[in-house]
This record gives sequence, C-alpha cells and structure tokens, in this order.
Amino acid sequence: MPAEFLAAIQGAKSLYELIKATQGLSNSVEVLTAVSDVQQKLMDANAAALASQEKQASLAERVRDLETQLRAVEDWQKELERYQLVEFPNSKAFALKLRVQMANGDPVHYLCKACADKKQKTTLQPIDGQLHCPQSKQHSIWYD
Ligand SMILES: [Zn+2]
Repeated sequence: MPAEFLAAIQGAKSLYELIKATQGLSNSVEVLTAVSDVQQKLMDANAAALASQEKQASLAERVRDLETQLRAVEDWQKELERYQLVEFPNSKAFALKLRVQMANGDPVHYLCKACADKKQKTTLQPIDGQLHCPQSKQHSIWYD
C-alpha cells in the first residue's frame, strides 16, 4: 500500500478520534482547537490522496510508454525475421537479404547491416557495382 494512502487512512483515524474527543470538551476554546485540528487532518488527508492520485497517473503513463517501446521492439524483431544475413563472396561485405518465402509480394532487396544494427530499416540501392546506403556513404558495400 502506498505511503500516501497509509497517511490518509491514519489521518481519517485521527479525525474520528478527535470528533469523539470533542463530545467531552467543556468550553468553546477547546472545541475551536479541536475543530482546527480536524481541519488540519482533513487537509493532510486530502493532500495525501492527491499525491497518491498524481503518483498513480505518473505510473500509468510510464506503463503506457514502456508498452509502446515494447511494441516497437517486437515489431522490429518481427520485421528482421523477414531477412537473412548474407555475405558477398568477394567483398566479404554483409547485408540483410529479404527471404523469398517472406517477401509478401515485395521484390527481393537488401537492407543495410550497419543501419539495421541501429534499428533503422534502410534499403540498399545498387549503383555502379555497389549497394549504396541512403543514410551514409560509409555503409555502402561492393556486392560481388
Ligand atoms: Zn546504412
């Protein structure tokens, strides 16, 4: 149970005890003091309840953020399963090649390995015997 909630329950218990105690008070100063104490306890209980609500809202938001991140990781993993790491025989360069059986109508193509390692899906484009990465010239590879 959160500490704020325990404080609110404690405040409510103290409030009940204070109300019971006012029944035995003999003069108005004692009653006013008791009422003031009750008001303070109510304010404390309200503040504790508000803090608990804010904490719960914050935690719910964090859960939503983490669920979104988890979905993105799962989607990326699922997308990567459509590709196979291949090595070109002469250049020894690596790329991710679309598996024919998982093409779903897409033409066979290659993804940049360096970009995939950073969870970026970048399709390599063939130009003059090289596969060029649109993200970085340094990622471009010889595909022979
Ligand atoms: Zn790249």
